[in-house]
Amino acid sequence: MANKPSPRLKRELKTIDSMLKIYCRNHHKTGEEPLCRECQDLLEYAEKRLARCPFGRNKPTCGNCTIHCYQPEKRKKVKEVMRYSGPRMITRHPILALMHLADGYKTVAKPPVTSGASAKKNCGEL
Ligand code: SF4
Ligand SMILES: [Zn+2]
Repeated sequence: MANKPSPRLKRELKTIDSMLKIYCRNHHKTGEEPLCRECQDLLEYAEKRLARCPFGRNKPTCGNCTIHCYQPEKRKKVKEVMRYSGPRMITRHPILALMHLADGYKTVAKPPVTSGASAKKNCGEL
């Protein structure tokens, strides 16, 4: 069952949404549309992963995660988006960028359920 989004989770969703918009605008030239189909799919995938995150309210940033529930291809794509959009967030969304940076410095949380493969399984369908 999906977790009820905490303020922190909502902020993470807003951050990934903003990063994807910057990336998509500069790579896929979508014109008036905020996101192309591919980036929209990635956003929806990230939303599902975040909603099912087994850390709940103790969630680390995905970059500091010990489980890494994303499919390898999706994880690679998100990393690419973050590498490109991360520095650009400072000027466009400074508060979100600083909060994300601060979240990244927090200690890696232990999942409340189990660890390793079992915890990954608890994330639901990958
Ligand atoms: S399990 Fe890890 S990678 Fe998956 S959403 Fe939670 S923190 Fe991010
Ligand atoms: Zn795109």
